[in-house]
Amino acid sequence: MRVVVAGGAGFLGSHLADALAARGDDVVILDDLSSGNLANVTALVEAGHEVKIGDVSEQVEVEGKVDLVCNLASPASPPFYLEFPLETLAVGSEGTRRLLELARTHDARFLQASTSEVYGDPAVHPQPETYWGNVNPVGPRSVYDEAKRFGEALTMAYATKLGVNVGIVRIFNTYGPRLDPGDGRVVSNFVRQAMEGSPLTVYGDGMQTRSLCYVDDLVAGLIAMADSNEQGPINLGNPDERTMLELASEVLAVTGSSSDLVFEPLPQDDPTRRCPDISLATARLNWAPRVSLREGLTALVDYLSSLKADEGS
Ligand code: UDP
Repeated sequence: MRVVVAGGAGFLGSHLADALAARGDDVVILDDLSSGNLANVTALVEAGHEVKIGDVSEQVEVEGKVDLVCNLASPASPPFYLEFPLETLAVGSEGTRRLLELARTHDARFLQASTSEVYGDPAVHPQPETYWGNVNPVGPRSVYDEAKRFGEALTMAYATKLGVNVGIVRIFNTYGPRLDPGDGRVVSNFVRQAMEGSPLTVYGDGMQTRSLCYVDDLVAGLIAMADSNEQGPINLGNPDERTMLELASEVLAVTGSSSDLVFEPLPQDDPTRRCPDISLATARLNWAPRVSLREGLTALVDYLSSLKADEGS
């Protein structure tokens, strides 16, 4: 297959592109490198896959046949999308529309990376796909949440009105190698802080929860969805729910660090709890995550340590 991965130089996109290339697909990466990193795709470029630098909300041009379009183009860390609110809205709306047009004109399947943020601060727990969510439409996070909700609506309209073969996945918090240590997300911050021996910054009282999925598991779910004819939306995430205090102690245990915790203000509209109901993914895609939090954090720390060792040598 020839697959276009928008956002393919980013954390998730580059892992997806690697997995597609490893099974023999020809990959075309589109990325504006605003949060992506060319270093993530060096091996793909060396193997002859194409990387086109540009913003998909401005232009999408791909020559030749296209069998599958994967839309992972968006800032995803809260500090980043809060810094670039207009760009986040643009890529979620116009970027998604241009990529849907690419799929339509090539008769390709379209995979939309949506998010657990469509559930906002959820009143139903764990979150099944049938829950419509609790999003503040004028709060700071709305630039991401509403862009992704609009992206789902647009994807559905292309399916029902124009007959495009679409699949929507709602991705919950994911971590692993290539997570940008400076992106401000909780795993990036805690692991970096623990490895530096500086205090771990816990926002609020640390009792809010997240459910963290290791990137290899998530990518297996994305590929299962891409290869299926499921329309979704289907949740992809690891239901192993932890408080941020629990996460902090896991990170301290894995790194062997004796860093303290410091408590900082909770950002506005920070969801209180989040945990995917993955019954649908299991039933329809035969998918479930396999990597435990301890194993995944260990793999991430090993990766970061090897990067440091390379820098030092
Ligand atoms: N968080 C934290 N310390 C940090 C960064 C984040 O306690 O240094 C909290 C944040 O308030 C949220 C959770 O960790 O409750 C997950 O935040 P993240 O930015 O990773 O992603 P989100 O799930 O909110 O999109």
